[in-house]
Amino acid sequence: MTSSQTPPLTPEQRLDVDQIRRDFPVLSRQVHGHPLVYLDNAATAQKPRAVLDVLTRYYEDNNANIHRGVHALSQTATEQYEGSRSKIGRFIGAHEDREIVFVRGTTEAINLVAHSFVRPRLQPGDEVLITAMEHHSNIVPWQILCNEKSARLRVVPINEAGELDLDEFRDLLTSRTKIVALAHMSNALGTINPVPDIIAASHSQGVPVLLDGAQAAPHMNVNVADLDCDFYAFSGHKLYGPTGIGVLYGKANHLESMDPYQTGGEQIKSVTFEKTIYNDIPYRFEAGTPHIAGVIALGAAIDYVDSLGRDRIAAHENEILAYGTKLLSSIPGLRLIGTATNKASVLSFLLGDIHPHDIGTILDDKGIAIRTGHHCAQPVMDRFGISATARASLAFYNTKYDIDALVQGLEQVRDVLG
Ligand code: PMP
Repeated sequence: MTSSQTPPLTPEQRLDVDQIRRDFPVLSRQVHGHPLVYLDNAATAQKPRAVLDVLTRYYEDNNANIHRGVHALSQTATEQYEGSRSKIGRFIGAHEDREIVFVRGTTEAINLVAHSFVRPRLQPGDEVLITAMEHHSNIVPWQILCNEKSARLRVVPINEAGELDLDEFRDLLTSRTKIVALAHMSNALGTINPVPDIIAASHSQGVPVLLDGAQAAPHMNVNVADLDCDFYAFSGHKLYGPTGIGVLYGKANHLESMDPYQTGGEQIKSVTFEKTIYNDIPYRFEAGTPHIAGVIALGAAIDYVDSLGRDRIAAHENEILAYGTKLLSSIPGLRLIGTATNKASVLSFLLGDIHPHDIGTILDDKGIAIRTGHHCAQPVMDRFGISATARASLAFYNTKYDIDALVQGLEQVRDVLG
């Protein structure tokens, strides 16, 4: 279910945001003498105490390598690591735990699919279909692969609101298409793409679909079995977990058909100097000692998100987004970039001719953290004929107070530079 379809909540179902904010130590700090207003969640989200405690506890109480040890510490670490895999599988509705591969993040997950799934299947003249709103992580791996294989990268355009042109998508989807790879939700625009329709259309032509879920996973219910996507990639650090850990979901039959992306320890069944037999999935794709503490702490982050409820999170964030959209739209000279009907969490904007970096610097002086630049989505900037935007992005701990602080800060930016 996308956030815009979330049913309205009764007062009792509302998040207790004051209480929640107390769970995030960093949110109580001051920056440049002001209370921190953290509005850079699309870049990375803050971590609740429960996640920080799990990280510390792992290293203090139980540090050990997994899978190979017979001793107690190793067995506990293995149980916790594999327990996290099951939890994450349930969180995204995977059919089986072995469909969950731990990687460093969304970027590595997409590279894995490009290298191990698409590369062997791509012939000269074939096509990879992406969209004009992709993060560079979902452009560059495909571009390099297409160059190497004399294949063609095709791009579905977007309209002025930042929505996909679905007629163009249908035209570009042909028998030459070997994969459709697109963002479930755009980091630069906030657009939530109509992925069920895209997946159904792609599958009707036998084309597999990879969803870049880096932005969607923290903001809405994701069920890969219902979506029927072939691959789903997301990063732990945007989901209130640690950096350096992420997830690739892949349908078991796809993963089984794939050779590993990296090779070495952990991912083998047997090695002689003549021959190596790879391990079963998902271990085949987890070469070397993984980010054990990160995996376990990502499990704790998911427990935290589940304890709040993803419908309640979406309802709260949508309310703050609507409030922010209304207030920002009323600022003279402010132009919102990304006004899709179905969007979440992201307010990307320009203020007159003021450079976004100047906006960001003045806001920072008031303790307000936003992001400015191209957001690793330069083709989106090109589409709108701009080089950068200022972007405020929300999490469930943001409040109307944060938006008010942003609006006040922007008024001061205008007074100083406008
Ligand atoms: N895709 C999207 C839509 C993103 O927002 C991001 C992170 N900004 C990425 C991919 C890359 O994620 P990571 O840096 O965690 O690999």
